[in-house]
Amino acid sequence: MQIRDKLYIDGAWVPSTGGGTIDVTHSTTEEVMGRIPEGTPADVDKAVAAAKAAFPQWAATSREERGKYLQRITEGLGARMQEIATTIAGEVGMPLNLSMMIQAGLPTMTFGSMAQICDSFPFEEQVGSSLVVREPVGVVGAITPWNYPLHQIAAKVAPALAAGCTVVLKPSEVAPLNAFILAEIIDEIGLPAGVFNLVTGVGPVVGEAIASHPDVDMVSFTGSTRAGRRVSELASQTVKRVALELGGKSPNVILDDADLQQAVTDGIGKCYLNSGQTCSALTRMIVPRSKLAEVEAIAVKAAEAYTPGDPFGGDARLGPLVSATQRERVRGYIQTGIDEGAKLLTGGTEAPEGLDTGYFVRPTVFSDVTTKMTIAQEEIFGPVLAILPYDTEEEAVAIANDSIYGLAGGVWSGDPERAKRVARQLRTGQVEVNGGSFNPLAPFGGFKQSGNGRELGKFGLEEYLEVKSLQL
Ligand code: NAD
Repeated sequence: MQIRDKLYIDGAWVPSTGGGTIDVTHSTTEEVMGRIPEGTPADVDKAVAAAKAAFPQWAATSREERGKYLQRITEGLGARMQEIATTIAGEVGMPLNLSMMIQAGLPTMTFGSMAQICDSFPFEEQVGSSLVVREPVGVVGAITPWNYPLHQIAAKVAPALAAGCTVVLKPSEVAPLNAFILAEIIDEIGLPAGVFNLVTGVGPVVGEAIASHPDVDMVSFTGSTRAGRRVSELASQTVKRVALELGGKSPNVILDDADLQQAVTDGIGKCYLNSGQTCSALTRMIVPRSKLAEVEAIAVKAAEAYTPGDPFGGDARLGPLVSATQRERVRGYIQTGIDEGAKLLTGGTEAPEGLDTGYFVRPTVFSDVTTKMTIAQEEIFGPVLAILPYDTEEEAVAIANDSIYGLAGGVWSGDPERAKRVARQLRTGQVEVNGGSFNPLAPFGGFKQSGNGRELGKFGLEEYLEVKSLQL
């Protein structure tokens, strides 16, 4: 049981001004695994005041100095990777080996890469008679989700610190324990007081207090499109900068000359990663109608190899979902798929055999899905794949783009040039070509209602900078 009874504000662990607490539930045992303070708007006021006071000095530090702090955070995270991986496997349910690589590995890498990017970033450039300088935007409010909790935090905190901004972080109340580990590391390495602050609590209280606070210059939000809209509305009152990383319903276009075995098997994996609780999951597999039967057979075999089970058990490829709410939501979508006439190939609404405890959902595949169906349009956030057939390449692209979202996508073809040509036609922020792997230095973010702005690499750093022109 991890009891955290203090917030981290102005370089010190302090109690919340309120007396409330929030329980954190283990997604496999369904038992309470931790408890955190339920922060208040008054806590946000204190944290923002600390961040505002710390800003001028932090903004004036050299890039070398900021880089050194980032490097020390990287080392601190590296030393506690096992603990981070275990904590998040408990909170979120990702199998432990994957959690080690992704949930603990990725944030460590992001802090490390930001130290290097900060070192070489062109903060100044001459444009004719002007000197264009890039300065930190100010106090940043960071609001993050539960699915890759520490990665999402790192994708905001690392570039914000690198830019010279100060930060107030509100992590997800569903998976917040990992954020305390980061705060402990930041405290231990002696980051100046007020540069980083942690206020836990629920979105409508702490999140909204951050989004509407007059002394927060920028809010960077990752989460659902619904909450993102609310954050934008509140932020507009003080015209703060808003960066949004929202939901997705990403298409995976398999062209008729692709290696079907490879493309479909990889596609199942890209849909089921983290039990489908991945914003960029490739949840719509768009396939040639002439090859539908072959695709279905490969998909079923690949899906059924994703044995659900205890994330700490060793051989499970699919952990539980994060919460009972999420499990019920996903099962509801599976029922809707059946009701609307999609063909259920494998999976379904029942709990997987022998797994009555834990928020498990069967790996599910639907075929004969049409763009009008709910399961083709709404983000499910569970291990549910929709296969949509097409007749021509143009139709495949049209189906892919028939979405309010535009976060990620995939294209498969035996001809890499053809794949790239189709990839350029997808209205999404990232496209994997023939299974091209995730690049933590490439920009990540969405077109359309998947958000505004980009995270990671130098593009992520730019988000936290104001551009000033000195006319000489
Ligand atoms: P969520 O929107 O419920 O919560 C995200 C964060 O926002 C949490 O910290 C929550 O407390 C806070 N929040 C909720 N309501 C708020 C409000 N009214 N004002 C301010 N803050 C509020 O999302 P979630 O369930 O934690 O995460 C899942 C969603 O996040 C999915 O839609 C997923 O696609 C999206 N996501 C997107 C990305 C991306 O990079 N595009 C990455 C991960 C997750």
